[in-house]
Amino acid sequence: LFIDHPLAEGQAAPLDGAQAHYLSGVMRLKPGDEITVFNGRDGAWSARLLDAGKRGGSLELLAQVAPQRDPPDLWLIFAPIKKARTDFIVEKAAEMGSARILPVQTDFTNSERIRQDRLQAHAVEAAEQCGGTFVPEVADLVPLARLLDGWDAGRRILWADEARAGPAETLAGLPRGPWAILIGPEGGFSEAERQRLGRTPFVTPVSLGPRILRADTAAVAALALWQAQLGD
Ligand code: SAM
Repeated sequence: LFIDHPLAEGQAAPLDGAQAHYLSGVMRLKPGDEITVFNGRDGAWSARLLDAGKRGGSLELLAQVAPQRDPPDLWLIFAPIKKARTDFIVEKAAEMGSARILPVQTDFTNSERIRQDRLQAHAVEAAEQCGGTFVPEVADLVPLARLLDGWDAGRRILWADEARAGPAETLAGLPRGPWAILIGPEGGFSEAERQRLGRTPFVTPVSLGPRILRADTAAVAALALWQAQLGD
Protein backbone atom coordinates (compact mmCIF):
# COMPACT_ATOMS: atom_id res chain seq x y z
CA LEU A 1 0.00 0.00 0.00
CA PHE A 2 1.28 3.50 -0.85
CA ILE A 3 1.08 5.98 2.01
CA ASP A 4 2.25 9.56 1.69
CA HIS A 5 3.88 9.69 5.10
CA PRO A 6 7.45 9.40 6.42
CA LEU A 7 8.28 5.80 7.36
CA ALA A 8 10.11 5.25 10.65
CA GLU A 9 10.05 2.45 13.20
CA GLY A 10 7.36 2.65 15.85
CA GLN A 11 5.65 5.62 14.22
CA ALA A 12 1.93 5.72 13.55
CA ALA A 13 0.78 6.60 10.05
CA PRO A 14 -2.72 7.79 9.19
CA LEU A 15 -4.92 6.12 6.57
CA ASP A 16 -7.53 8.05 4.62
CA GLY A 17 -11.06 6.74 4.17
CA ALA A 18 -10.33 5.03 0.84
CA GLN A 19 -7.22 3.28 2.17
CA ALA A 20 -9.02 2.15 5.33
CA HIS A 21 -11.90 0.82 3.23
CA TYR A 22 -9.49 -1.01 0.92
CA LEU A 23 -7.74 -2.71 3.83
CA SER A 24 -10.79 -3.64 5.89
CA GLY A 25 -13.53 -3.93 3.24
CA VAL A 26 -11.61 -5.30 0.23
CA MET A 27 -8.62 -7.08 1.78
CA ARG A 28 -10.66 -8.10 4.86
CA LEU A 29 -7.82 -7.21 7.23
CA LYS A 30 -8.44 -6.88 10.97
CA PRO A 31 -6.59 -4.75 13.54
CA GLY A 32 -3.32 -6.51 14.33
CA ASP A 33 -2.85 -7.83 10.76
CA GLU A 34 0.35 -6.90 8.97
CA ILE A 35 0.77 -5.35 5.53
CA THR A 36 3.62 -3.89 3.49
CA VAL A 37 3.67 -0.15 2.78
CA PHE A 38 5.91 2.25 0.86
CA ASN A 39 6.02 6.01 0.34
CA GLY A 40 8.22 6.24 -2.76
CA ARG A 41 11.29 7.30 -0.77
CA ASP A 42 12.00 5.03 2.20
CA GLY A 43 11.81 1.50 0.76
CA ALA A 44 9.18 -1.05 1.77
CA TRP A 45 8.03 -1.37 5.39
CA SER A 46 5.99 -3.87 7.34
CA ALA A 47 3.18 -2.22 9.25
CA ARG A 48 0.45 -3.35 11.62
CA LEU A 49 -3.12 -2.23 11.11
CA LEU A 50 -4.29 -0.43 14.25
CA ASP A 51 -7.76 0.58 13.18
CA ALA A 52 -9.77 1.08 10.00
CA GLY A 53 -13.15 2.78 9.90
CA LYS A 54 -15.34 4.69 7.46
CA ARG A 55 -13.45 7.96 7.82
CA GLY A 56 -9.94 6.54 8.00
CA GLY A 57 -7.64 4.62 10.25
CA SER A 58 -4.04 4.15 11.24
CA LEU A 59 -1.03 1.87 10.99
CA GLU A 60 1.96 1.25 13.21
CA LEU A 61 5.21 1.06 11.26
CA LEU A 62 7.32 -1.95 12.25
CA ALA A 63 10.52 -2.38 10.22
CA GLN A 64 11.97 -1.81 6.79
CA VAL A 65 11.70 -5.01 4.74
CA ALA A 66 13.29 -3.81 1.47
CA PRO A 67 15.51 -0.88 0.59
CA GLN A 68 14.36 1.95 -1.67
CA ARG A 69 14.81 1.02 -5.32
CA ASP A 70 14.49 3.81 -7.87
CA PRO A 71 14.06 3.13 -11.60
CA PRO A 72 16.73 4.09 -14.13
CA ASP A 73 16.70 7.74 -15.18
CA LEU A 74 14.15 7.27 -17.97
CA TRP A 75 11.17 9.53 -18.66
CA LEU A 76 8.24 8.94 -20.98
CA ILE A 77 6.78 11.79 -23.04
CA PHE A 78 3.51 10.93 -24.78
CA ALA A 79 0.51 12.64 -26.35
CA PRO A 80 -2.67 11.68 -24.47
CA ILE A 81 -5.09 9.62 -26.52
CA LYS A 82 -8.47 8.20 -25.52
CA LYS A 83 -9.01 7.96 -21.79
CA ALA A 84 -8.66 4.19 -21.40
CA ARG A 85 -5.56 4.11 -23.58
CA THR A 86 -3.99 7.05 -21.76
CA ASP A 87 -4.62 5.20 -18.48
CA PHE A 88 -2.98 2.13 -20.01
CA ILE A 89 0.14 4.10 -21.02
CA VAL A 90 0.55 5.59 -17.53
CA GLU A 91 0.02 2.21 -15.87
CA LYS A 92 2.52 0.43 -18.14
CA ALA A 93 5.09 3.22 -17.88
CA ALA A 94 4.95 2.94 -14.09
CA GLU A 95 5.29 -0.86 -14.27
CA MET A 96 8.12 -0.73 -16.80
CA GLY A 97 10.17 1.67 -14.69
CA SER A 98 9.78 5.24 -15.90
CA ALA A 99 10.91 7.84 -13.42
CA ARG A 100 8.64 10.59 -14.82
CA ILE A 101 5.68 10.63 -17.16
CA LEU A 102 5.12 13.78 -19.21
CA PRO A 103 1.91 14.18 -21.21
CA VAL A 104 2.32 16.62 -24.12
CA GLN A 105 -0.08 18.45 -26.38
CA THR A 106 0.85 18.06 -30.04
CA ASP A 107 -0.68 19.29 -33.30
CA PHE A 108 -2.72 16.09 -33.65
CA THR A 109 -3.28 15.34 -29.96
CA ASN A 110 -6.63 13.65 -29.51
CA SER A 111 -7.19 15.01 -26.06
CA GLU A 112 -6.88 18.64 -24.98
CA ARG A 113 -7.16 17.98 -21.30
CA ILE A 114 -5.99 15.39 -18.82
CA ARG A 115 -6.95 14.67 -15.23
CA GLN A 116 -3.46 14.76 -13.80
CA ASP A 117 -4.67 13.64 -10.35
CA ARG A 118 -6.41 10.59 -11.86
CA LEU A 119 -3.33 9.65 -13.87
CA GLN A 120 -1.14 10.08 -10.81
CA ALA A 121 -3.49 7.75 -8.90
CA HIS A 122 -3.07 5.18 -11.72
CA ALA A 123 0.70 5.43 -11.34
CA VAL A 124 0.35 4.78 -7.60
CA GLU A 125 -1.88 1.74 -8.23
CA ALA A 126 0.55 0.36 -10.78
CA ALA A 127 3.46 0.75 -8.36
CA GLU A 128 1.44 -1.02 -5.66
CA GLN A 129 0.54 -3.79 -8.09
CA CYS A 130 4.10 -4.56 -9.10
CA GLY A 131 5.56 -4.39 -5.62
CA GLY A 132 7.67 -1.34 -6.42
CA THR A 133 8.97 1.16 -3.92
CA PHE A 134 8.89 4.07 -6.37
CA VAL A 135 5.99 6.05 -7.87
CA PRO A 136 6.70 8.05 -11.03
CA GLU A 137 5.48 11.62 -11.06
CA VAL A 138 2.89 12.40 -13.74
CA ALA A 139 3.39 15.98 -14.92
CA ASP A 140 0.71 18.36 -16.16
CA LEU A 141 -0.03 18.58 -19.87
CA VAL A 142 2.26 21.04 -21.70
CA PRO A 143 2.59 21.86 -25.42
CA LEU A 144 5.39 19.87 -27.10
CA ALA A 145 7.04 23.05 -28.45
CA ARG A 146 7.22 24.55 -24.97
CA LEU A 147 8.63 21.34 -23.56
CA LEU A 148 11.36 21.27 -26.22
CA ASP A 149 12.13 25.01 -25.76
CA GLY A 150 12.85 24.50 -22.07
CA TRP A 151 14.47 21.07 -22.40
CA ASP A 152 17.81 20.37 -20.72
CA ALA A 153 19.91 19.04 -23.61
CA GLY A 154 21.79 16.77 -21.20
CA ARG A 155 18.81 14.41 -21.30
CA ARG A 156 18.52 12.85 -24.76
CA ILE A 157 15.15 12.12 -26.33
CA LEU A 158 14.50 8.82 -28.08
CA TRP A 159 11.85 9.64 -30.67
CA ALA A 160 9.78 6.63 -31.72
CA ASP A 161 9.45 7.48 -35.41
CA GLU A 162 7.29 5.21 -37.53
CA ALA A 163 8.64 6.85 -40.70
CA ARG A 164 11.96 5.05 -40.14
CA ALA A 165 10.09 1.89 -41.14
CA GLY A 166 12.39 -1.08 -40.95
CA PRO A 167 13.41 -3.66 -38.42
CA ALA A 168 13.15 -2.56 -34.81
CA GLU A 169 16.44 -0.93 -33.96
CA THR A 170 18.61 -2.09 -31.13
CA LEU A 171 19.85 0.74 -29.01
CA ALA A 172 23.38 -0.65 -28.89
CA GLY A 173 25.89 2.15 -29.08
CA LEU A 174 23.62 4.80 -27.63
CA PRO A 175 25.16 6.59 -24.66
CA ARG A 176 24.01 5.68 -21.17
CA GLY A 177 22.73 8.51 -19.04
CA PRO A 178 19.41 10.29 -18.77
CA TRP A 179 16.91 9.63 -21.56
CA ALA A 180 13.28 10.34 -22.35
CA ILE A 181 11.19 8.32 -24.80
CA LEU A 182 8.83 10.32 -27.05
CA ILE A 183 5.66 8.72 -28.48
CA GLY A 184 3.28 10.55 -30.81
CA PRO A 185 -0.52 10.56 -30.82
CA GLU A 186 -2.69 8.28 -32.99
CA GLY A 187 -2.33 10.67 -35.95
CA GLY A 188 1.45 10.87 -35.52
CA PHE A 189 3.44 14.11 -35.48
CA SER A 190 2.67 16.94 -37.93
CA GLU A 191 5.19 17.84 -40.63
CA ALA A 192 6.24 20.94 -38.65
CA GLU A 193 6.80 18.85 -35.53
CA ARG A 194 8.73 16.24 -37.49
CA GLN A 195 10.99 18.96 -38.92
CA ARG A 196 11.63 20.39 -35.50
CA LEU A 197 12.38 17.00 -33.96
CA GLY A 198 14.60 16.13 -36.92
CA ARG A 199 16.86 19.16 -36.45
CA THR A 200 17.03 19.02 -32.64
CA PRO A 201 20.49 17.73 -31.71
CA PHE A 202 19.43 15.92 -28.53
CA VAL A 203 16.69 13.95 -30.34
CA THR A 204 17.49 10.47 -31.72
CA PRO A 205 14.84 8.86 -33.97
CA VAL A 206 14.31 5.13 -33.66
CA SER A 207 12.21 2.50 -35.44
CA LEU A 208 10.11 0.06 -33.45
CA GLY A 209 9.72 -2.21 -36.47
CA PRO A 210 8.06 -2.17 -39.90
CA ARG A 211 4.46 -2.19 -38.61
CA ILE A 212 2.69 0.96 -37.42
CA LEU A 213 1.86 0.40 -33.79
CA ARG A 214 -0.90 2.08 -31.86
CA ALA A 215 0.48 4.77 -29.58
CA ASP A 216 -0.08 2.69 -26.43
CA THR A 217 1.63 -0.35 -27.96
CA ALA A 218 4.48 1.85 -29.17
CA ALA A 219 5.00 3.20 -25.64
CA VAL A 220 5.37 -0.29 -24.18
CA ALA A 221 7.59 -1.47 -27.06
CA ALA A 222 9.91 1.53 -26.73
CA LEU A 223 10.15 1.16 -22.95
CA ALA A 224 11.02 -2.53 -23.34
CA LEU A 225 13.64 -1.78 -26.00
CA TRP A 226 15.26 0.89 -23.84
CA GLN A 227 15.17 -1.22 -20.69
CA ALA A 228 16.71 -4.19 -22.54
CA GLN A 229 19.67 -2.15 -23.74
CA LEU A 230 20.18 0.72 -21.31
CA GLY A 231 18.16 -0.17 -18.23
CA ASP A 232 19.30 -1.95 -15.10
N1 SAM B 1 1.35 8.81 -38.20
C1 SAM B 1 0.89 7.50 -38.29
C2 SAM B 1 -0.31 7.43 -39.15
O1 SAM B 1 -1.32 8.08 -38.86
O2 SAM B 1 -0.16 6.68 -40.10
C3 SAM B 1 0.61 6.71 -37.00
C4 SAM B 1 1.14 7.16 -35.69
S1 SAM B 1 1.29 5.83 -34.54
C5 SAM B 1 -0.33 5.21 -34.48
C6 SAM B 1 1.47 6.65 -33.00
C7 SAM B 1 2.89 6.82 -32.53
O3 SAM B 1 3.45 5.57 -32.20
C8 SAM B 1 3.85 7.44 -33.52
O4 SAM B 1 3.82 8.85 -33.50
C9 SAM B 1 5.20 6.90 -33.04
O5 SAM B 1 5.73 7.71 -32.00
C10 SAM B 1 4.83 5.54 -32.50
N2 SAM B 1 5.05 4.44 -33.45
C11 SAM B 1 4.11 3.60 -33.94
N3 SAM B 1 4.67 2.66 -34.72
C12 SAM B 1 6.00 2.87 -34.72
C13 SAM B 1 7.13 2.22 -35.34
N4 SAM B 1 7.00 1.16 -36.11
N5 SAM B 1 8.36 2.72 -35.09
C14 SAM B 1 8.53 3.82 -34.32
N6 SAM B 1 7.49 4.47 -33.70
C15 SAM B 1 6.25 4.02 -33.90
